[in-house]
Amino acid sequence: MSNTTIRQNWTVDEVEAMFALPFMDLLFNAQVVHRAHFPKNQVQVSTLLSIKTGACPEDCKYCPQSARYDTGLEKETLMEVNKVIKAAQDAKATGSTRFCMGAAWKNPKQRDMPYLVEMIKEVKSLGLESCMTLGMLDNHQATQLADAGLDYYNHNLDTSPEYYDKIITTRSYQDRLDTLDNVRSAGMKVCSGGIVGLGEQGKDRSGLLVQLANMPQQPESVPINKLVKVKGTPLDNVDDLDEFTFIKTIAIARIMMPKSHVRLSAGRDAMSEQTQALCFMAGANSIFYGCKLLTTDNPDESTDMQLFKKLGINKEAVNFSPYESEQNVDAAIIRHAEKDELFYDATAKV
Ligand code: SF4
Repeated sequence: MSNTTIRQNWTVDEVEAMFALPFMDLLFNAQVVHRAHFPKNQVQVSTLLSIKTGACPEDCKYCPQSARYDTGLEKETLMEVNKVIKAAQDAKATGSTRFCMGAAWKNPKQRDMPYLVEMIKEVKSLGLESCMTLGMLDNHQATQLADAGLDYYNHNLDTSPEYYDKIITTRSYQDRLDTLDNVRSAGMKVCSGGIVGLGEQGKDRSGLLVQLANMPQQPESVPINKLVKVKGTPLDNVDDLDEFTFIKTIAIARIMMPKSHVRLSAGRDAMSEQTQALCFMAGANSIFYGCKLLTTDNPDESTDMQLFKKLGINKEAVNFSPYESEQNVDAAIIRHAEKDELFYDATAKV
């Protein structure tokens, strides 16, 4: 296979064979594929903001935001638009090019849509790419978000179809695929990946990658998360995943999805600089930036900048005029400050 071929007929056996390759051979192959499709030594930087935290009705066993687990997390109402604008401005000032907004919902309600649409429009007006993760979307909601200008929608597959019901029982694998179909049909880009270290077997990691790579159109963005064990969740005591297996998962994602941004996501805070460097060598070319990833810790911006400097990595460029942007932000914050009374308790049961 050439380094530029995109295949969507992968089998689990083929992926298992890649996991069995000598580590250095696999990383070398992944870096060759990476350089055929992306500028070398360049990493895209996104910021993730929780716009509605906790009290989620779903039962994802890794997640501190599920209402079913006692993790001590304080639930929060839907964030006001002016606060979202300020956070987006801060993200841009520190070099993020994409602003991702996450809400702990099974799915957004129709009453939420006007606020979400406002958030998207304001983030876009700053010149940032926009992304949301809000749970399941029907066709109509996907169209509303796309019409507002949303660039990406994140909805992870989490794990293989076979292991899935050990992790989540409140929505099916097919529900997730249906949401991704609705996102594509509405014309948005897809961000979809998974989590490793959930206690799954090797064939489940391979199965997840096969599902992602064999989609009718591969996701533009593929977050690979390493489980962050949170006290109070059912996976608090699961065995740690070996770091080489994690790095190999990144390398194989790069080989199977050569044109996708592969994002080194949750779990980075606990990784050494050397492990992160090997992930970049394996083809990871996107990170979340900022000290919080929804509710779990993430390296702060200055720590990441020091690492980029040591490794000779550049951030993907931002077209940005700080002066213009500051004016836009001030005007938008004033505009939205007057609408704060419109916000309701989004965590209240309906
Ligand atoms: S749907 Fe999202 S927020 Fe809700 S429990 Fe699952 S991962 Fe957590």
